[in-house]
Amino acid sequence: MSATMQKYIDEAEQALLHTYNRYQVVFEKGDGVYLYDLDGKKYLDFVSGIAVFALGYNNKEYNDALKAQIDKIIHTSNYYYNLPAVEAAKKLKEISGMDRVFFTNSGAEAVEGAIKTARKYAYLKDGRTDHEIIAMNHSFHGRTMGALSVTGNPHYREAFEPMIGNIRFADLNDFESVEAQVTDRTCAIIFETVQGEGGIYPAAEEFMQKVRKLCDERDILMILDEIQCGMGRTGEMFAWQRYGIKPDVMTSAKALGCGVPVGAFLMTEKVAARSLAAGDHGTTYGGNPLACAAICKVVELFEKQDVLANVRETGAYLGERLDQLAEEFDCVKARRGVGLLQGLVFDRPVGDMIRKAMDKGLVLINAGADIIRFVPSLIITKENVDEMIVILRESLKETCSL
Ligand SMILES: *Cc1c(COP(=O)(O)O)cnc(C)c1O
Repeated sequence: MSATMQKYIDEAEQALLHTYNRYQVVFEKGDGVYLYDLDGKKYLDFVSGIAVFALGYNNKEYNDALKAQIDKIIHTSNYYYNLPAVEAAKKLKEISGMDRVFFTNSGAEAVEGAIKTARKYAYLKDGRTDHEIIAMNHSFHGRTMGALSVTGNPHYREAFEPMIGNIRFADLNDFESVEAQVTDRTCAIIFETVQGEGGIYPAAEEFMQKVRKLCDERDILMILDEIQCGMGRTGEMFAWQRYGIKPDVMTSAKALGCGVPVGAFLMTEKVAARSLAAGDHGTTYGGNPLACAAICKVVELFEKQDVLANVRETGAYLGERLDQLAEEFDCVKARRGVGLLQGLVFDRPVGDMIRKAMDKGLVLINAGADIIRFVPSLIITKENVDEMIVILRESLKETCSL
């Protein structure tokens, strides 16, 4: 590493709060599926800013759209209408089939909004203020207090107790465990259609159908968190779309803005008509013209570049190539995932493997201690997958045979 890069890293360690154990690299720019560090070293990127840069780095049309919006107006206030927000909301309704949109600045805030929606919906029905939410073990919904409260990882929550309260945990894909937590105060069941941070666990078809039916019967809101698995990553625009069901409320973020910080929670008209009303919720930045110009261009480019078709084809190919690695190396226990949201499960911590891969010019990320997660740009090609496999295999040879 150059002295310059080391200097920036040292300075960062002096100035930033130590909430991340960062990899020892400063990325300066990106192009397509490649990143470049300060020393000019090139990396193939299979993280894409954690499932954010779906269209790759330095997409000219996307960049031009943002620049054009900057020259018009970056921010107004939600007390006024603005064109990009109208366009973005219309496009989101179209691709999701949901009816109403609230824009936030992040995924966690989208989850907060979804929780408030569910509580208000239940409150308007019975006037009680002790409603419960069922969430899943091993889930991840964000770091703010409400989102953290429904995050099924005690380690993330412990030091910050008490949580918002009245959250009960069940297991994804174990319908009976969900049923066992239902009471007359349950207002919502929230889960990720594919658990991301928790280890790349897709919801099973039967589980999805049963939860939908339970929610219909008891007028409980089904909230699907599509922040990581949505926006095309599984080969559908939203991961729930391949189950033939529809949530009452859903969240989106990450690839929604492809790099501009933005999220959203969406709901059906039925829920919108009987939940959050004027004065119940708000945000200064959420859905500002710049963020919404990004969303508009992202959705447009998804269609223009037929991103979903690429995810289906290249995702299947990635799955096959990872399965081959799983057969080749004893240290690989399993491969899980859908489309371009894949995980390779190891019998040991993966930190060393990821650092080895970085040295060789491949950017990877973990999901939990023992899983390497693959969340590349949705425009990657089979050649990129092959290139990745070559480097990963080298890294495994060096770490797994030890
Ligand atoms: C990343 C993530 C969040 C939190 O999003 P932030 O933008 O980091 O607040 C919530 N849910 C899921 C499933 C995520 O992957």
